[in-house]
Amino acid sequence: MPDIKCSVTECHYNERILCNAPMIQVDRNGVNKASNSPQTKCETFKLKS
Ligand code: SF4
Repeated sequence: MPDIKCSVTECHYNERILCNAPMIQVDRNGVNKASNSPQTKCETFKLKS
């Protein structure tokens, strides 16, 4: 998987500002057609325990 830089450090998969998940799922964020990045979201996010 290519390096995915992610600043969501409270995510279980985040390691030093990089995503360490084996794959991620990104979906539209409640819209039918995204036209900017806030209209997308990472579904793989899991809160660090
Ligand atoms: S799973 Fe999503 S939110 Fe979590 S580190 Fe990876 S890209 Fe970021």
